[in-house]
Amino acid sequence: MEYGPAPESRKAVDEWLNAHQGRFQLFIGGKWLSPKDNQSFKSINPANEETLAEIAEAGKEDVDKAVAAAKKALPKWEGLGSHARARFLYALARQIQKHARLFAVLESLDNGKSIRETRDIDIPLVARHFYHHAGWAQLRDSILKEYTSIGVVGQIIPWNFPLLMLSWKIAPALAMGNTVVLKPAEFTSLTALLFAEICEQIGLPPGVVNVVTGGGKTGEFIVQHPGIQKIAFTGSTEVGQLIRRNTAGTGKKLSLELGGKSPFLVFDSADLDSAVEGVVDAIWFNQGQVCCAGSRLLVQESVAEQFLKKIRSRMEKLRIGNPLDKAIDIGAIVAPVQLKTIEELVQKGKEEGGAIWQPSWACPKEGCFYPPTLITNVTPSATISQVEIFGPVLIAMSFRTPAEAVKLANNTRYGLAASIWTENINLALNIAPKIKAGTVWINCTNVFDATSGFGGYRESGFGREGGKEGLWEYVKPNWEVELTELPTTSEPKLENNSPSSSSFTTPAIDRTAKMYIGGKQVRPDGAYSIRILDPKGKGIGEVGEGNRKDIRNAVEAAHAAASWAKATAHNRAQVLYYIAENFAVRAAEFSARIAQMTALEPAISQKEVDLAIQRIYTYAALADKYDGQMHQTPFRNVTLAMKEPLGVMGIICPQEMPLLGFISTVIPAISMGNRVVVVPSEPYPLAATDFYQILETSDLPGGVVNIITGKRDTLTQVLANHDDVDGLWYFGSKEGSKLVEFAAAENMKRTWVNYGKPREWFNPQQSEGELFLRHATQIKNIWVPYGE
Ligand code: NAD
Repeated sequence: MEYGPAPESRKAVDEWLNAHQGRFQLFIGGKWLSPKDNQSFKSINPANEETLAEIAEAGKEDVDKAVAAAKKALPKWEGLGSHARARFLYALARQIQKHARLFAVLESLDNGKSIRETRDIDIPLVARHFYHHAGWAQLRDSILKEYTSIGVVGQIIPWNFPLLMLSWKIAPALAMGNTVVLKPAEFTSLTALLFAEICEQIGLPPGVVNVVTGGGKTGEFIVQHPGIQKIAFTGSTEVGQLIRRNTAGTGKKLSLELGGKSPFLVFDSADLDSAVEGVVDAIWFNQGQVCCAGSRLLVQESVAEQFLKKIRSRMEKLRIGNPLDKAIDIGAIVAPVQLKTIEELVQKGKEEGGAIWQPSWACPKEGCFYPPTLITNVTPSATISQVEIFGPVLIAMSFRTPAEAVKLANNTRYGLAASIWTENINLALNIAPKIKAGTVWINCTNVFDATSGFGGYRESGFGREGGKEGLWEYVKPNWEVELTELPTTSEPKLENNSPSSSSFTTPAIDRTAKMYIGGKQVRPDGAYSIRILDPKGKGIGEVGEGNRKDIRNAVEAAHAAASWAKATAHNRAQVLYYIAENFAVRAAEFSARIAQMTALEPAISQKEVDLAIQRIYTYAALADKYDGQMHQTPFRNVTLAMKEPLGVMGIICPQEMPLLGFISTVIPAISMGNRVVVVPSEPYPLAATDFYQILETSDLPGGVVNIITGKRDTLTQVLANHDDVDGLWYFGSKEGSKLVEFAAAENMKRTWVNYGKPREWFNPQQSEGELFLRHATQIKNIWVPYGE
């Protein structure tokens, strides 16, 4: 029997639009203001191309005004305290629930997504997000006493989940005491404007939330504004990279939620009928315009034909059409430009040899519709296997073994999500840790909850939204506020020498410290060395001058030591204790070495050594205690929040602390399972090069720590540009920090830099503990079936 149409009424939305005469201004400082240039653009219903409203376009001066309003509102909002902020967030949640129908219909009309989804998924999740964060607001002053808000936050969101993305941004920002300038995507501004009205209605203090509408240019004004302390962006990887480069070195905190090409793995042990419904949710939910859409189907060869047959038969039954019809599965694509991109990519797939399959029924002729599409006969390197199509297009490939499935799953620059289908929970939990993605769903897909962080690995961005994981994006340690930029210090003079000249002109030097790569002491590739002088200018040793090739070798060695990440936390802790033990025996020698290099008082160099030993103990202790969490997510699930190492990290040590700077950065990183390529202090490298003798005798596998000495700036640039480096810590100058952040945009490696503001390495509050571990790990949330 055919379904009849069951349209949702749009009356309330029409009344709301009419009450505004179809025109909307900017929401700044609690007032509705016209843009200075009086520019505007249209918001179109993609299902029938009607103009819904004329929306103000914010220019530079308007963004200035919004930032000024947010800045003005900040002290009072911060000063309100936990409980008052919690009340406001609770009021927002309540009002969203009360206006749920209006929001749902408005979202459907503006975006083209089906009313079933906006009514049952988007808007309930929005309310849930505000309720959840009303809770974090309440708890803020008790559980995050050591932290303060960031300040004025610029937030830029995409069009695919307009109000949901707004809630993911605004709720944690406000809960932590920040104020906000938010820009919705140009295709879908309306629910953000309705939300702004709700802010007014609940009496949110003016300026706490400002909504500036506009396109990419308006976004750029926000990104570049000097009055903004943090940018939170969700959108394409390309724009994310631009933003990373535009904010490099400015000290603006950044979180990026970017694109994906997520795998959907079906093993022969899967319940195939459930998995078919999973595919429907993975790629036809929201017309496939979902960052974490399961757009790459990987199915085990033995069941591939059978499974694809079931999918084709299910596709025949999908219904496409008027988004307000409660009986449709697939609505409209957001805009003609997006439709064109989808068409072009499918055409490209065809040219590359893909077999395109679409159901026999036809799409509506009017409006932006695209049929659900299955593409088989695809190679892993084909454009459509690699590029995010962002439409209802599924590409399918097969695999034979679980190992091959993992290889194919990870064969992408992205790492947002993955879905694993099998009735064999052992297999699922064996595969989950091997997939590089921020979220792994087992026998489910595209489920979200405010308690579980969401975000990417690799080029899908960094930072998490949701849960406690997401709160770190909106706070900073209290002591960080006090840090100041250091004027360039006079560093000991360094001299370059070729090996022949150095061996003749400096006979007093006993030996040249080698580099340490893959557990072996090696000579520098370029055969150049650098003389190390004491503060009086007397040569006290030589180190190799590392170059690009040395870094490449070190990165390779670090990748080869991947099994360190699989060692048990207990095992890693044991190795760290052993390092501390061997180090303690030679404490006096290291103290003398520091004194020799720096001419510091013996008591100070002794303190540096003592603290270094203590710090190793701290991370040995934390190795098996900085553990994950189990989130209480709904929908018959528990969610395991696993802390995983970043992978291969570069570490540029601070110049000022020869030994403690090295230990305080290297040890936390390796305690979490990372392998590191370390550039020790340029003027004082000898403590670090002495240290590899300790590493060699302490059961640390070769390749876990690699030490490359030489010119800090040159080596930093090479590490920052290296595509196989997953994270880079830099403790140095302001310019160096900028260089690192700028270059990191290429592969979106995680960075942690100090913008030329040195911390106190003797002070454990600043230089020891969980903050370092947070920067050395990323969280993977694995949704596991649980209960009934
Ligand atoms: P987009 O990058 O084109 O635009 C996103 C937002 O950035 C819009 O508001 C846009 O106006 C603004 N913008 C564009 N150029 C800008 C610039 N130069 N500077 C500052 N802001 C600029 O992305 P889109 O097409 O709106 O959204 C689709 C993309 O978003 C997809 O790649 C999708 O995967 C991604 N996405 C990611 C997540 C996630 O959580 N990871 C969630 C939803 C969407």
